[in-house]
Amino acid sequence: MQGAPGCCCHGVHGARGSGHPVSGMGGIVRRRLPDEGVEVMRVVVVGGGIGGLALGSGLRRAGAEVSVFERDTDVRATGGYHITLDGRAQEALRGLVAPEIVERMLASGSALRLRDPDAFWDRRGRVLGYGPELRDDPSLDIDRITLRALLAEAVGADLHLGKVVSGVGYDGDGAPVVSFEDGSSVTGDLVVGADGAHSLVARFLAGGPTNAPAGIVGFSGRTSVGNLSAGERERLGTRSGLVVGPRGAALYLGFLDPVGNAVLDRPELRASVTTGPTFIWGAMFPDTSATGALRKLHGSALRAALVARFGELGWSSQVLEVLEAADPATVAAFRFNAASSRARDLAPWGAGRITALGDAVHATPPTAGMGAGAAIRDAADLVERLGHSSALVPAVAAFEAAMRERGAEVLAAAMGPVRWILFTDTVAGAALTRAATPVLAAAARARGLR
Ligand SMILES: Cc1cc2nc3c(=O)[nH]c(=O)nc-3n(C[C@H](O)[C@H](O)[C@H](O)COP(=O)(O)OP(=O)(O)OC[C@H]3O[C@@H](n4cnc5c(N)ncnc54)[C@H](O)[C@@H]3O)c2cc1C
Repeated sequence: MQGAPGCCCHGVHGARGSGHPVSGMGGIVRRRLPDEGVEVMRVVVVGGGIGGLALGSGLRRAGAEVSVFERDTDVRATGGYHITLDGRAQEALRGLVAPEIVERMLASGSALRLRDPDAFWDRRGRVLGYGPELRDDPSLDIDRITLRALLAEAVGADLHLGKVVSGVGYDGDGAPVVSFEDGSSVTGDLVVGADGAHSLVARFLAGGPTNAPAGIVGFSGRTSVGNLSAGERERLGTRSGLVVGPRGAALYLGFLDPVGNAVLDRPELRASVTTGPTFIWGAMFPDTSATGALRKLHGSALRAALVARFGELGWSSQVLEVLEAADPATVAAFRFNAASSRARDLAPWGAGRITALGDAVHATPPTAGMGAGAAIRDAADLVERLGHSSALVPAVAAFEAAMRERGAEVLAAAMGPVRWILFTDTVAGAALTRAATPVLAAAARARGLR
């Protein structure tokens, strides 16, 4: 295969691969062989989503030979809404991609520090409380398509689109092999599965699925602030928030404005898909046959069914305006899968020359906005550890140990809201929500919160 790691493996753990690291370039991945000079580590990455592309870029910058194989044929044509990158994820990205690409990300990202504090509302639109001030929060929101496209640019010709991986394993010499649906195959020194929540690579390593449905179905869409009535624009302000009601119904509103609230005010660098103040919303319901049926709908039919479903549950038409004003072409169902939030359950395999990262290992519902950031931090950590160890498998083992902790932390954060939403669908939870929300709303009013 052109441009891909060759069939002949020059593995760092093969007989020829016991050389010493030589490079000072961030410490990575070039090794001097006793007889032949410098050899470059060859890494095969399965999946060109956020984590796989971040890894591909980081390895490439560090001097490794890398090939990222992605089944999509166009990185911009696969959808997605927005991704939150906290300070740690941004720091990791600075080490993985060139400074000019970081600048374009910042010029395309919407700054949380320029937003009003997050809000909690009840299903009638009454304020229950506000979150902390965000003025010192370094996080940003960026379109998933924009982030993915910029990362793909960073990987350049090492990204191979339209390649569907159909299997992974070891050849007779113990080198990892990746096979494709088109009948071809490649080997490398290291294979990394960055193939998302339904990862084939992680399933191979774990001997079964690494996550399960979280019990919630989600539906998302985009609503331009300009399509809302003046009253609703004023009520919502420039804040994200969560509307909660009984029976497990919840609505997340994410405000972003990569133009007015750009992290870096350099319009000439902007690559955002979102071109003005926008709410990206996520409607959540318990996963039942009734809500499962909604998944079959699309566009305006899905939008109307969601509004009707919330209406049946007593939600006010004011709160539902943001759904009704959504661009129907953007309304779609998405999945909520979750791995265990116990570190010891994650990556339940012994370290070797095939590993995985991101959602493949710690599939995280979007309820804490941390899944993509964790995948990026996984990528940065793997690049770092490969660069600072002269032996591959111990470096992978150390990376996997750190990833277990990282994954458990983000899963714990994301599962809090999921459990809470599911609790409101129990008899006690529904009664408590019905009884508590008016009290909380009255208390908020008494404190002058509007
Ligand atoms: C289409 C899509 C839209 C999303 N939208 C959002 C969003 O709006 N907000 C949010 O918070 N999160 C979203 N996510 C999830 C988010 O991107 C991930 O949770 C997070 O970025 C972790 O990244 P990852 O690289 O581990 O997985 P992903 O970003 O999911 O990437 C996995 C990649 O592997 C590829 N792949 C899978 N199997 C194979 C195979 N056999 N052969 C070749 N390639 C394969 C997939 O096509 C995908 O590109 C979305 C994911 C997808 C796939």
